[in-house]
Amino acid sequence: MPKVIGLTGGIASGKSTVSDILTVYGFKVVDADKASRQAVEKGSKGLKQIIETFGEEALDDNGEMDRAYMGELVFNYPEKRLELNAIVHPIVREIMERDKEQLLKEGHNVIMDIPLLFENDLQHTVDEVWVVYTSESIQIERLMQRNDLSIEDARARVYSQIAIDKKSRMADHVIDNLGDKLELKQNVERLLEEEGYIEKPYYSDTNN
Ligand code: ATP
Repeated sequence: MPKVIGLTGGIASGKSTVSDILTVYGFKVVDADKASRQAVEKGSKGLKQIIETFGEEALDDNGEMDRAYMGELVFNYPEKRLELNAIVHPIVREIMERDKEQLLKEGHNVIMDIPLLFENDLQHTVDEVWVVYTSESIQIERLMQRNDLSIEDARARVYSQIAIDKKSRMADHVIDNLGDKLELKQNVERLLEEEGYIEKPYYSDTNN
């Protein structure tokens, strides 16, 4: 029976990097961030509802959702965030469920990449939870580098989530991402071997 694994962790802890490694081993990835974009793409029912609720100001010149405007709005008015989530979340769930069912039907093991799995209590929607772990200081460092953020902004984003140590304690398996990318790859391969997904890892000796 193919499995559904919820992959989570903290912001910038390495989920996408781990998903890429798992793809090499035949896992199929359903990505919450991608589904969130699809939910409000041009011509979607999500975008139509957003225009009905927030007006044409919600659109940019290309007729797509104006992310900067909406981001500012929900940041300043928490009740607007609830309204936006009430539109977008059910559609995101629908897209992810549909993609998951399709992949399972095709016989694939599925990775659900869900950054806020614990925050949104989604443990029951997957067979197992794997947490990609790194320290908060490394999260902050990688986030500053990747998103070109100040240390204050990076800290604020990291501390707005459930602490990564706590997430690790709630996981079925923890993937250590304290080292470099090669070590990460080997940690993923070890887990796959232990769990019987593969007989022998490729044990690659490059960083690719
Ligand atoms: P988010 O939830 O914020 O999208 P994520 O958990 O998917 O993040 P990644 O995008 O995989 O995290 O990693 C965050 C950044 O850190 C990326 O720029 C990635 O290349 C880098 N990174 C990940 N793992 C390592 C590592 N072991 N060594 C060095 N850099 C790493």
